Amino acid sequence: MPELPEVETVRRGLEPLMVGRVIERVEVLDPRLVQPVDPRGVELALTGREVTAIDRRGKYLVVELDDGELVALHHLRMTGSFAAPTQPVPTHVRLRYHLAGLPGPIAYNDPRRFGTLHVDDADGVRRYLDARLGPEPLGDDWDAAALHARTRGRAAPLKAVLLDQRVVAGLGNIYVDEACFLAGVRPDLSADRLTRAAAERLVTAVRARLLEAIEVGGSTLRDYRGVEGEVGGMQERFLAYGRAGLPCLRCGTTMRGARIAGRGTSWCPRCQPATRPR
Ligand SMILES: [Zn+2]
Repeated sequence: MPELPEVETVRRGLEPLMVGRVIERVEVLDPRLVQPVDPRGVELALTGREVTAIDRRGKYLVVELDDGELVALHHLRMTGSFAAPTQPVPTHVRLRYHLAGLPGPIAYNDPRRFGTLHVDDADGVRRYLDARLGPEPLGDDWDAAALHARTRGRAAPLKAVLLDQRVVAGLGNIYVDEACFLAGVRPDLSADRLTRAAAERLVTAVRARLLEAIEVGGSTLRDYRGVEGEVGGMQERFLAYGRAGLPCLRCGTTMRGARIAGRGTSWCPRCQPATRPR
């Protein structure tokens, strides 16, 4: 499932293709993508608009049209991806953007069909996102104090709190495991036992893992690809994610695995102590 680094990679791939170009035509091939809105209405609303910017908020792609008069808000969910016109036509295309001056359409592909597209004006989209998302982990308004405050009085596992998009936006299963390992904190630690010092390490670790992942184009596990078909490189660099039963890369201890917050989770029992973080 695409998390922040993968969505950021898609954003960076779409930006040079779309920004400054006019949408000549849009085909919504799967009504589920825009439900409950009528697909023809969405096609009509987007036609003739110029793409003026593409931003990212959490795991959302924010395609700004006509300087924010309208915004196309994409969420890739499980298996959504975009393919540039130069790429082979994917097998589960749900939408096509036809942009002036491109040799073919940009295709939105989504085998599992959980992806969404909302179209609204900039204010409407801001309200929609603010209701769902907390601070950006790479932004200035997220720090150890903010994270620590959100863990007070919460007996849920730390992992569940970090997966909560209202606590911090954009993290998923992979980067939570990676950050917990790097910070030396167990993902099943009761959140209210997170010390302020551990919160500091966690914020630093989240940023470090996200930035490294963005640098190498995200993680490709099954079907995630960049816009130009490129495979990510972060899966070669995992420290914890998917490593249950394997030796810890830092200390050699066999990594543990369990379901935490409903998700497959792995950690090192030595590098990530049971109760009190280092
Ligand atoms: Zn270890």
